[in-house]
Amino acid sequence: MTKIDSVDLYYLSMPTVENVADGSQDVLLVRVRAGGWEGWGECEASPLVSIASLIAPMSHSACQPVLGSVLGQTIDSIDDVRRITALVRANSFDQLQAAHTLSGINIALCDLLGRRYEVPVHELLGVRAASPKTPYASTLFGATPDETRAEATRLAGMGFRAVKFGWMGFGESSLSADVDQLAAAREGLGPDVDLLVDAGMAWVGRPDQARARIPALHDFRVRFIEEPFVAEEFDAYGEFGTAARQVGVAVAGGEGCHNVPLALTMMTHAGLDYVQIDAGRIGGITEAKDVADAALSQGRTFLNHTFTSHLALSASLQPFAGHGAEGLCEYPVNPRPVSYDLTTTHIPVDGDGLVRIPDAPGLGVTPNRRTIATYLQQVEISVQKRILYRTPDLDVVSPADEEIAA
Ligand SMILES: [Mg+2]
Repeated sequence: MTKIDSVDLYYLSMPTVENVADGSQDVLLVRVRAGGWEGWGECEASPLVSIASLIAPMSHSACQPVLGSVLGQTIDSIDDVRRITALVRANSFDQLQAAHTLSGINIALCDLLGRRYEVPVHELLGVRAASPKTPYASTLFGATPDETRAEATRLAGMGFRAVKFGWMGFGESSLSADVDQLAAAREGLGPDVDLLVDAGMAWVGRPDQARARIPALHDFRVRFIEEPFVAEEFDAYGEFGTAARQVGVAVAGGEGCHNVPLALTMMTHAGLDYVQIDAGRIGGITEAKDVADAALSQGRTFLNHTFTSHLALSASLQPFAGHGAEGLCEYPVNPRPVSYDLTTTHIPVDGDGLVRIPDAPGLGVTPNRRTIATYLQQVEISVQKRILYRTPDLDVVSPADEEIAA
């Protein structure tokens, strides 16, 4: 039996973080080590808050530090990943950030097992041959329609069969401003590339504003509209979706789900056509797999949510590796250097415009230690002068870990 020896978190950041809807500006990287093997994961998370969730002293029995449920646990099979995940859920139930921290750990444990048994993670999940995916280039609207048009032209020229634009005030100002952005996107893409739109929760509490956009979404042949509302607005989703589907526009959502029950409930009660799950937020790869299986059985399309690194991309592709050939997947096209350079290799778009999930052991991508060193933010958390956390050395288990473990 192999025991988990260490869980190390690394906070990386661009020198400046801008107030824009771009989650690739910083990274919370996770390394787990067990019996001489190691694995890597990434949390879709506010890094410092998630580090606190790892080591914050117990507040009560359902509010324990995540680390206590992971360190020293047996890790020999994917069932152990599921068992450890359930233990963190129970012991840190009332510590809301725990889902994000757990996600990166779950991903790293899957990577570790894959490297140890020399199989890709999807094989650990029961999928022998991964299907290729059709990547949609995922980016933000331009600041102006001209910028959007130019970016659409560029991405179509790169061979993408589908492109998603989002955020940057879309849905928040006038209907005519949104029409201008949609027209520019469609013009730049041409008639044959699928256009997808991420509303970025622009219509929270304003379902009338969402409904008012449906004719324009239809006119510019938007394949799906994503996140018109926050995840929990099931009724608004349901009513909007009914109207949108009548004109051939599908509804996507789910990236905000941080546990399986919420994702399953949202899927059915919000009536999602596309279920978008981020393995770095929902609790990890095994949790995302549960949602993917349920979506498939209900005839809904499962998608990854990924806007950051190719480590996160590989992790979020594994849960639906076995779903139908050439189905869509989200593919980040403009990540910041801290995210793009996080791995030494990348998951390319091939000459046919398809993405192939790595078949190398684990997640099939390896963190770039030079990038980590370049963007690493040294963190120290102490209470009453007792150090609870200090950024671990990249290669040596730090004394602080022993202290936390004790
Ligand atoms: Mg989104």
